[in-house]
Amino acid sequence: MKACPFCGGEAKLVKITDGYTTNPVTIRNKWTVKCVSCNVDIGIFSSEIFEDVEGGLCIRKQGGVDAINAWNTRNE
Ligand SMILES: [Zn+2]
Repeated sequence: MKACPFCGGEAKLVKITDGYTTNPVTIRNKWTVKCVSCNVDIGIFSSEIFEDVEGGLCIRKQGGVDAINAWNTRNE
């Protein structure tokens, strides 16, 4: 993870919310990457993992990975 483009501070992946629904079982979390020094963040990215009919877990969206990628490629 790159340092903060504004202050050079340490950046951290943060889970904002946990979500869980049943039938089918689906886990939806929201993520961001933020600077621990100046608090700037990259915006909110969602992840979604659901259980398929055979009980396997399928990842539909990887919010944590998307947030890190967005942070690392921002241009400011
Ligand atoms: Zn910063």
